[in-house]
Amino acid sequence: MVHFVGAGPGAPDLITVRGKQYLEEADVIIYAGSLVNPKLLEYTKDVCTIYNSAKMTLEEVISVMEKAEEEGKMTVRLHTGDPCIYGAIREQMDILDEKGIPYDSCPGVSSFCGAASALNLEYTLPDISQSVIITRMEGRTPVPSKESIQSFAAHQATMVVFLSIGMLEELSRRLVEGGYSEDTPAAIVYKATWEDEKKFICTVGTLAQTAAENNITKTALMIIGDAVKTSNYQRSKLYDPGFTTEFRKAVK
Ligand code: SAH
Repeated sequence: MVHFVGAGPGAPDLITVRGKQYLEEADVIIYAGSLVNPKLLEYTKDVCTIYNSAKMTLEEVISVMEKAEEEGKMTVRLHTGDPCIYGAIREQMDILDEKGIPYDSCPGVSSFCGAASALNLEYTLPDISQSVIITRMEGRTPVPSKESIQSFAAHQATMVVFLSIGMLEELSRRLVEGGYSEDTPAAIVYKATWEDEKKFICTVGTLAQTAAENNITKTALMIIGDAVKTSNYQRSKLYDPGFTTEFRKAVK
């Protein structure tokens, strides 16, 4: 059996209880070494074989899983954050299906949640934004043209941009082209929840400058929208004294 496990955004105690249990039981671990905190590997038992997938191809990853399965071993495939976001898990699962190797998936705390915690942010403020757009600039992996930054910017929803720290001038240009003003609040969070986490509040117009001045060149998320800074939001209805809910009567 193969368990795909979300490692969380960085801090080793932000893996789920279930994910940690799988690490403790695993005979084989294949971890995404470019982003997973190696401290998580301390949870493993002594007799566990560990592979760093940063140095492996898809075929090599699968062959490790296949061999482990033949030997009746349990494999953990440890992905950063939550495996469902830019995790490249589907291509692994499809081959495992072909080979008849069973698997399941254990969620993790995505780095976009880790970044919000770093800034004590609520992405979904009433009257400001009730949606979060998770996206990226195209790099070597293309992004469908219908999902351009400009088209998403038109919504003025909270936007979290992954995998794009090297393209911030272009990101700003597209955000402005799509309708954000240059002074829209933005943030850059580097290594959210790691010991060396760094966070910067800036604006759409100063994203590139902020990253350059602080030498941020990888492992960062950009957050864009008024939710980053505004104090102009509405209170929630759920906790409004004048609002009756399933669990509480309105105070007259
Ligand atoms: N599955 C992961 C994302 C993998 S893609 C998740 O759910 O978080 C890798 C990208 O995620 C990085 O380029 C960076 O943009 C972002 N990232 C991952 N960990 C991060 C962290 N701790 N802080 C900020 N960004 C992070």
